[in-house]
Amino acid sequence: MLISIIIPVFNESENLPFLHNRLISTLKKISHPYELIYINDGSSDSSFVVLKELLIPEMKIIDFSRNFGKEAALSAGLVHAFGDVVIPIDADLQHPPELIEEMVYVHLKGWDVVFASRIDRKNDGFLRGKLTNYFYKINDSMTEHPLPLNSGDFRLMSRKVVDAINSLPEKNRFMKGIYSWVGFKTVNISYEVAPRLKGATSFTLMSLYKLAINGLFNFTTLPLKIWTYIGLSVASFSFLYSILILIKTLVFGVDTPGYASTIIAVLFMGGIQLIGIGVLGEYISLIFTETKQRPAYIIREFINNNND
Ligand code: UDP
Ligand code: MG
Repeated sequence: MLISIIIPVFNESENLPFLHNRLISTLKKISHPYELIYINDGSSDSSFVVLKELLIPEMKIIDFSRNFGKEAALSAGLVHAFGDVVIPIDADLQHPPELIEEMVYVHLKGWDVVFASRIDRKNDGFLRGKLTNYFYKINDSMTEHPLPLNSGDFRLMSRKVVDAINSLPEKNRFMKGIYSWVGFKTVNISYEVAPRLKGATSFTLMSLYKLAINGLFNFTTLPLKIWTYIGLSVASFSFLYSILILIKTLVFGVDTPGYASTIIAVLFMGGIQLIGIGVLGEYISLIFTETKQRPAYIIREFINNNND
């Protein structure tokens, strides 16, 4: 059984040697053959140089032409992994490599996916933790593919699962949604997430917001459909209200004042329509990027010491 580890790397030069050593000592203990696939996602520090210094026969380096984002890096790793099981792991040692041993052990009991869920989010900071929880709640109420709370990308997937993910043609890849969409027999083990070893997270609240919007709109059409219902209820309400006004005018005559109610109705309807147009815009932009058929990433250099 070949174990593939895929590691997205963006400015992690200080963490890489530690990660590498801990991965190798864990994998040696498990005593299955393994390969390490590092994806250098356009780092601006010396990560690529450090990776080349760490080169061993079990290792591949995929060097992107620029920063394409973690989701693209993971997709590239999944495509180039040959393993019977594949495990993505963060390079900053927030995901303890030692857990891989337990993942493999659980997988051998017959589970296709073993995902590691973090016990809490205390290392994420208060605001980020709160907002992330809201995202999971909204996601679960809107899509048919709930995302397990507190799950990250740290998980073991069998070959069948990886093939299924690789067969999805979409370029816009929200990996958490994709993992959940493909399904398979999944089990959960928990771990305590460690603080980042060195450096700072590259995800700002804005980039997380984009990721969340991307995740939602890619996996649910509810925001599109809900406008039918909102439109129907606003229209029926207006219909009843206009009958009321008509009768009132017929019975009590014309009564000119009404600026407040008119302006409120106009503003309210204007706001509702703008939201509706915004939602259409989100989906059109997804269709637009998808129809361009651009690859999710471009590889500048592929280093494979093994020549297979
Ligand atoms: N990463 C990446 N491309 C990016 C941003 C991050 O490949 O554009 C990698 C990063 O090197 C790390 C993992 O994704 O291995 C998680 O990133 P980070 O620790 O910044 O995110 P957080 O743990 O805060 O969610
Ligand atoms: Mg991190």
